[in-house]
Amino acid sequence: AGHVVVIGAGQAGQQTAVSLREGGHSGRITLIGDEGVLPYERPPLSKAYLKGDADESRLWLRPETFYERHAIERVTGTAVAVDRAARTVRLDDGTVHDYGHLVLATGALPRALPVPGSGLRGVRTLRTLADAESLKKDLAGAAHVVVVGAGFIGLEFAAAAHDLGHEATVVEALGRPLARVASAPTAEHFTRLHEQHGNELHFGQGIARFHGDSDSGGGEGRVAAVELTDGRRLPADLVLVGVGVTPCTELAEAAGLRVAGGIVTDSRLLTSDPHISAVGDCAAFPHARSGRRLRLESVQNAVDHGRLVADRLTGTTRTYDELPWFWSTQFTTTLQIAGLGHDHDTQVVLNGDSGGSGNSGAFSVLLFRGDDLLAVESVNRSADHMAARRILGSGIPLTRREASAAGFTLKGHLK
Ligand code: FAD
Repeated sequence: AGHVVVIGAGQAGQQTAVSLREGGHSGRITLIGDEGVLPYERPPLSKAYLKGDADESRLWLRPETFYERHAIERVTGTAVAVDRAARTVRLDDGTVHDYGHLVLATGALPRALPVPGSGLRGVRTLRTLADAESLKKDLAGAAHVVVVGAGFIGLEFAAAAHDLGHEATVVEALGRPLARVASAPTAEHFTRLHEQHGNELHFGQGIARFHGDSDSGGGEGRVAAVELTDGRRLPADLVLVGVGVTPCTELAEAAGLRVAGGIVTDSRLLTSDPHISAVGDCAAFPHARSGRRLRLESVQNAVDHGRLVADRLTGTTRTYDELPWFWSTQFTTTLQIAGLGHDHDTQVVLNGDSGGSGNSGAFSVLLFRGDDLLAVESVNRSADHMAARRILGSGIPLTRREASAAGFTLKGHLK
């Protein structure tokens, strides 16, 4: 592959560079990133780091010396153009880098809410270390914290805010939290968990506008209130908007690569140009298990994508077929998800309360479509999660009837 240039020094780009070198690539590796810090992991930004339980040095994926020792050239800058005919990348400072193979690992950025007042000070999103640093400062002086969107980032932020002594109000447009990413019993558990801690949740409510302290809702000053679609106003001096992300595809699009809800790749994570791969949050890839094109936002996806591309560039071509998995921590509760449960039609709850819902403090929800196990969500049951990953990962059959039998355990099913 010669000189491999990676655009985006986040989880996926960093992994690609590291695995390339570890896999024996002897050519140059250039890792271009626009954040100006060492590659770091994002999960603690809405958890331990936000709460002050982990400092910056705990975030770095590798120490600075690692990149020097492995001759991974880190370049700080924004890639602004890819010339596919000349096989070059141009940065914002005018420098040009030739590539033998290019890896796009540009990630995704938070969506803004298209409502009046979203430009007010104190209306924020959380993606980068810089975002987390300023949110930490804002939280210290905040009296009323409002979170828009009850997805993972919104709920984790609300939990961290609570742990820092605030009560947070969460506003969600859909009827329940985690609607796109978790089953009803799991969502119900997290709703209760937040309520028990004193966080307030409003479902089925959109945001009409943000009001500033010095005007009636234009775009200046600092946020003072959030107006819901039903007209209610919630006082707010800090608003975290967590309503999803948009993949960073502009560079790919401008270079004429296929883009459809992400940079389109084949099952080997090659884009429509055989000299360019795409990995991580920005890549829309075919998912063999569901037969769909997917774009996932998780550490697992970023890491496994990076490894696969590095393997291909060092001589071992595989089709991407890794089992997706994910985790989220809120308060002292950890949710772990193995597989993708979107299409489920039935569920079996293990170790729930007597009513069979997810009321107990530790339980797992098995999601089936017909008799196919699609995913397992485990709340404070990491042994279940590990067993589920083995069952789903190696395609060990498990029917709904087997899972519903008295005394059934996921671990036992492995034996
Ligand atoms: P990113 O990590 O976003 O990296 C992309 C990088 O490319 C960025 O640094 C960006 O600035 C840079 N870039 C973009 N365009 C250019 C350009 N033109 N030139 C130069 N550089 C460019 N996942 C989990 O599995 N579990 C969790 O608990 C979890 N918690 C999370 C908490 C937070 C607060 C966030 C934000 C994410 C969390 N995630 C979690 C998701 C996970 O962090 C992401 O899926 C992962 O970081 C994706 O890696 P990536 O490399 O594709 O993108």
